[in-house]
Amino acid sequence: MSFTPFPRVALIGIGLIGSSLAHVIRRNGLASEIVVSTRSEHTLRRAEELGLGDRYCLDAGEAVADADLVILCVPVGASEAVAKWIGPALKPGAIVTDTGSTKASVVRQMAPHLPKNVHFIPGHPIAGTEESGPDAGFAELFRDRWCILTPENDADADAVARLTAFWEACGSTVETMDADHHDLVLAIVSHLPHIIAYNIVGTADDLEAVTKSEVIKYSASGFRDFTRLAASDPTMWRDVCLHNKDAILEMLARFSEDLAALQRAVRWGDGDALFDLFTRTRGIRRSIVEAGQDTDIPNFGRDAAAKGAPGND
Ligand code: NAP
Repeated sequence: MSFTPFPRVALIGIGLIGSSLAHVIRRNGLASEIVVSTRSEHTLRRAEELGLGDRYCLDAGEAVADADLVILCVPVGASEAVAKWIGPALKPGAIVTDTGSTKASVVRQMAPHLPKNVHFIPGHPIAGTEESGPDAGFAELFRDRWCILTPENDADADAVARLTAFWEACGSTVETMDADHHDLVLAIVSHLPHIIAYNIVGTADDLEAVTKSEVIKYSASGFRDFTRLAASDPTMWRDVCLHNKDAILEMLARFSEDLAALQRAVRWGDGDALFDLFTRTRGIRRSIVEAGQDTDIPNFGRDAAAKGAPGND
């Protein structure tokens, strides 16, 4: 599939997602020039050592000047400050997008600060790992993963098509939906699993009757699969919880009700209820593998895959 490269792409934030974009843009020739901007001198220098861009700026306004595509790759809670910063410097006709894990809040934070003559199309690649920072990125991160775009109804169709083609050229399949629906879907498939993982690992850490060394020693019996999610970046996940509050609380309420039912089944020895639930959930796992969103290699493919393994988010 042929893709006309953007003359200049600006990446604002160069952690896992920004650096993965830098790698795939470079490898697949998706831009003539990559400008990298990040908050700290330290991360910017590291990005430069890794050769992630062609130009490096601490000033996000300077970075976006003359950029045709601007991609925010910062924690969702930083969206407003970045939008305020880059707004006055954006080139008319530029496409401005983001990669944040929540969408309605990002729209609320950014839209008021962007000029009317740019195309703002929020986005979220459903791909990630528990790693963060500029060393964590790799070009394959987005391959065979979904990317959700949440354009407003009056968004420019050509700009949406161009951004769609960009993500496809990164290896993803693009779906569009409205921001509120995105937040509801992601609350159950991503945000709740992370919260549950943080909670169970925290509970284990607080136990007194079972020692920490026992928890670690016998973790292969299930616990360790939660620890991968619970090792995810604390800043990112704090912001996700703060910025998708309503949908997360709705899903947590449903989860708590279902957990109470499960608790009752265990208490009353209702083996049929337990068996029925566990059979139903096994089917979901099979569907995920069939959809290519995980591997059926035993042990979650852990032995076969390092980078490129099914990820977070
Ligand atoms: P990351 O590896 O932690 O990198 C974050 C980047 O944002 C760094 O360049 C950091 O700059 C910068 N930053 C942090 N706080 C900032 C602030 N207050 N103001 C301005 N810049 C700030 O994060 P990431 O995993 O790439 O995540 C980036 C975005 O992608 C987030 O919105 C996240 O929700 C979304 N996302 C993440 C995943 C995932 O699995 N990680 C998947 C899909 C989408 P310095 O290092 O210079 O401080």
